[in-house]
Amino acid sequence: MLDLNWVRSHAEEVQRVTDQKGIGLDVKELLLLDDQRRRILQEVERLRQKRNAWSEEIGAAVHEKRSEDAAVLRQQVQVNNTKLSHLENDLAQLNRQVLALSLLVPNPVSPDTPIGGSDADNVRLRTEGKPPVFDFPMKDHVELGRIHGIIDIPRGVKAAGSRNYYLRGAGVLLHRAVQQLALDMLIDRGFSPLEVPLIVTTEAMTGTGFFPLGQDQCYHLEGEDKWLVGTSEVPLVTYYAGEIVDLSSPIRLAAASTCFRSEVGSAGKDVSGLYRVHQFSKVEQIVLCANDSEQSEIMLQEITRNAEDLLQMLELPYQVMAVCTGDMSQKTYKQFDIETWMPSRKAYGETHSSSNLLDFQARRSNIRYRDPSDGKLKFCHTLNNTAVATPRILIPLLENHQREDGSIYIPLALRKYMNGLESLVPLD
Ligand code: AMP
Repeated sequence: MLDLNWVRSHAEEVQRVTDQKGIGLDVKELLLLDDQRRRILQEVERLRQKRNAWSEEIGAAVHEKRSEDAAVLRQQVQVNNTKLSHLENDLAQLNRQVLALSLLVPNPVSPDTPIGGSDADNVRLRTEGKPPVFDFPMKDHVELGRIHGIIDIPRGVKAAGSRNYYLRGAGVLLHRAVQQLALDMLIDRGFSPLEVPLIVTTEAMTGTGFFPLGQDQCYHLEGEDKWLVGTSEVPLVTYYAGEIVDLSSPIRLAAASTCFRSEVGSAGKDVSGLYRVHQFSKVEQIVLCANDSEQSEIMLQEITRNAEDLLQMLELPYQVMAVCTGDMSQKTYKQFDIETWMPSRKAYGETHSSSNLLDFQARRSNIRYRDPSDGKLKFCHTLNNTAVATPRILIPLLENHQREDGSIYIPLALRKYMNGLESLVPLD
């Protein structure tokens, strides 16, 4: 949670970002409640001190057998306690209200973040590779998946409802190959791989900034204070929650995990195929670094580069977008999205999201390090990016690499994970 003193001294700026990010929070209301809370806290402390002082006086009066004095004092204590107990109740309620509103305060945005209301206002920074031109009727990934017997959506819907699928045979190999390629690349670049819990607590979700605002996107385990993860970012960052970490060099973590998303609010959007599904797999990169925006900017470039390198290994055309305020989450300070060319959509589709959160998550999760320059404990910066998310990446992979005879070219980098297979051939 951002420091309320900081929010107080930057109230206008915080309200502006709150509005730009579309969060329904009145910063003034929060600060007024906090003022009230502070006043009551002061009064509660004063009454507690009085009670303690009178209790000592009662002890002395009893000891010195001044029973009348003791009786008067006891009466005063009783009046004081009644008042105190009311104020303590008010304080507890105000604490809850202030906390609930504080959890909605957004991270500021970087000065170079484009201002805008939706993804239409994101700004293209660069394009790599060229979308293929097909001189034959191209097929979409659903059709390719069907003729190759590798994607089965009707049976996925039969088993689990809409936005579900089965992968089969070479589809499973491809799905696992892209993840293993991503994980191997990250390990090679100094990331520690972790196998993470896929069921996490409300505290972990709140600490990483996904709750309360993103609660409706997550699946709850009935009867438990637990949730299925929508991304391994939650267990990866929570790994260090409450700890003092060694940041003599940035901490780089990676995990391949299943992700579950309710996709509430996406009704009618991307309903066919594998673009927006309830369950997918993602290799995630997480970085913890010093509380230094120059250093975290370098790390943001690094994790973005990793994703771009992976797309180049997959021989896919993509573009990098600077994400605008209205398309950013509460926790994000600066974000790049990478969009990969998807022939069936005749457009680039988002496949990666790379974000610098400054110390937003570290404050909420209480992750600190000792700064060697002044010996002080500080909250670190955290960053995250997708390395690869599948089956969404199978859309560009299958569609861009299809050939006229229905076969699908397998990029060189994937072949060692595909038993050397150079292409997929359709079923008869
Ligand atoms: P996010 O964690 O929301 O930044 O998403 C990271 C990446 O995960 C996206 O760029 C997509 O490639 C993938 N992804 C997110 N949501 C879904 C979904 N519902 N279905 C399939 N892939 C998804």
